[in-house]
Amino acid sequence: MSDTITRLARANIQALTPYQSARRLGGKGDVWLNANEYPLPVPFELSQQTLNRYPECQPKQVIERYADYAGLTPQQVLVSRGADEGIELLMRAFCEPGKDAILFCPPTYGMYSVSAETIGIEYRTVPALADWQLNLPAIAAALEGVKLIYICSPNNPTGNLINPDAVRQLLEMTRGKALVIADEAYIEFCPQATLTGWIADYPHLVVLRTLSKAFALAGLRCGFTLANAAVIDLLLKVIAPYPLATPVADIAAQALSAEGIALMRSHVAELNANRDWLSEALASLPCVEQVFASETNYLLVRFIDSPRVFKTLWDQGIILRDQNKNPGLAGCLRISIGTRDECERLIVALQALAGVDTMEQA
Ligand SMILES: *Cc1c(COP(=O)(O)O)cnc(C)c1O
Repeated sequence: MSDTITRLARANIQALTPYQSARRLGGKGDVWLNANEYPLPVPFELSQQTLNRYPECQPKQVIERYADYAGLTPQQVLVSRGADEGIELLMRAFCEPGKDAILFCPPTYGMYSVSAETIGIEYRTVPALADWQLNLPAIAAALEGVKLIYICSPNNPTGNLINPDAVRQLLEMTRGKALVIADEAYIEFCPQATLTGWIADYPHLVVLRTLSKAFALAGLRCGFTLANAAVIDLLLKVIAPYPLATPVADIAAQALSAEGIALMRSHVAELNANRDWLSEALASLPCVEQVFASETNYLLVRFIDSPRVFKTLWDQGIILRDQNKNPGLAGCLRISIGTRDECERLIVALQALAGVDTMEQA
């Protein structure tokens, strides 16, 4: 019977592999380093008691505070259910299923392809270069029919920034033809690298942001799309009438107050210091082949025997994110930066693993 139902679904949904979120992959851990979350809860409390009323579609205070934080006008800001909803709204507003395409450069964030497949839009990939920068000539050759180009900077899962000169060339190349979307989910860890200052010069530049990472509010589901008013107005046509629950808007406004932003910045300083400590500690371990430089709250690490590292840590309740299946990332695991204590526990577990290795070889 369930077969009959399955066959009623759209063909692309029948064929779809849903996004393998860290939560979906599961695991029984007490050290969660697999979803790039902030390791500790932040102490916000609900202040609004108006749940009998529908919420505002675009809560004024949240929009104004984010515009202020990003150095833009309120007309250039859209708030949605996470940056993930922004990724999808752009496709729904700009791409004709069966006709238009999106483009992105793997290895990168997994939701671009999942959203495209769900909506039934073609996605085209142009692999990043060996240093994970944009292959501009190959992108130029693949632009026919492309409406949206997703560039993740800093890139998840590799941790590097995309060279801004290359993004500028991409913007010149696509003027009047396609939108360039800079996914800045991790920009708070390297704020000087933001491209929001370019929005004034490029009507087709879009920047995606979130409260899920540096703001420590992944459970809130709140993200932002930044662009010129013409783009925002189109997205407002396709967004749900009440995309943000009242409690979400309530807490987002608090997170974007002066105190909320100061708290976020202190967390960023703490995580950046932990990352530098962890990066050095990892580099000295015999089981580690390479620690890649990162501008984010995670490290991409190539191990000599990554399946064994992953499984051994998993069994000890230390949960990392496997990147082996991502193009060019064989042997790589992604490690979110936790508290200093969690970083130390990880290193102790890896040192023990290296010890077992030596004994087996002896
Ligand atoms: C986490 C993440 C997002 C999604 O953020 P949400 O606001 O939680 O939906 C988008 N892009 C990248 C690159 C991310 O890592």
